[in-house]
Amino acid sequence: MRTVYVNGDYLPEDQAKVSVFDRGFLFADAVYEVTSVLDGKIIAFDGHVERLARSLAELGMDMPMSPEALLDIHRELVARNAIDEGLIYLQVSRGAADRDFAYPAADTPQTVVLFTQAKAGLADAPMAKTGMKVISIPDRRWGRRDIKTVQLLYPSMGKMLAKDAGVHDAWMVEDGAVTEGTSNNAYIVKDGTIITRHLGEEILHGITRKAVLAYAAEAQMKVEERAFTLAEAQAADEAFITSASTFVMPVVEIDGVPVGSGEPGPVAARLREIYLDESRKAAV
Ligand code: PLP
Repeated sequence: MRTVYVNGDYLPEDQAKVSVFDRGFLFADAVYEVTSVLDGKIIAFDGHVERLARSLAELGMDMPMSPEALLDIHRELVARNAIDEGLIYLQVSRGAADRDFAYPAADTPQTVVLFTQAKAGLADAPMAKTGMKVISIPDRRWGRRDIKTVQLLYPSMGKMLAKDAGVHDAWMVEDGAVTEGTSNNAYIVKDGTIITRHLGEEILHGITRKAVLAYAAEAQMKVEERAFTLAEAQAADEAFITSASTFVMPVVEIDGVPVGSGEPGPVAARLREIYLDESRKAAV
């Protein structure tokens, strides 16, 4: 049985509980991070903690503890659950309080939960060789997508629409431009230039995105951070996504239209390789 961390305790998962009055449960008043584990080590930890602090600050919450203390919990769970490859999920909510739209007193104890999910073959995912197919859907999420809240119902609906259409994911479109995938950032490659939407409140500022763009620049690849349309994506040479759990994953079809050759492209393959190599080196 897995060991789960809840508010200072390491518990068997069937004893890990939070209050029905938790604001994460009642109002989605909580933020989260998902960090991957390769070879038993944590990938891009600093980036995830920085973003956690930012998400909390945007919602008027403090960090529940120091980055060092958070790292200790991550490592303890990896050890206790013997995770070689997998994910660590972290959630911080505003805590339990009488149901009221107004935030409770600032000294209300936050709820801090972490758990692991073993995922053998994360780095060696077969889909990296075959590529994924996506459909497009309108982006109907709220306007502060840069805050990583647990308010994930629309992305879940998007995943189900993709599943029903027999594909792997959905790219969301707003005002004629692609924002991002349901749980990943979206990219196209045209004439050797990597194009991905600029940062703003419309997308999540992916930790993998930041690293991949830095590696692309180091490798002398051209990068443009700007909005792109679905038509542009369908006419691109390549497409791919990034996220903490998929790293870099090629996209080979959008709304039934093959992208480029319809096979995973060389830019995505190269970036995946660089990202995995560099991340493994920097893992903690
Ligand atoms: N965009 C959305 C909407 C996400 O949910 C995620 C990850 O969960 C990402 C992008 C990718 O972010 P990261 O690379 O930090 O995992």
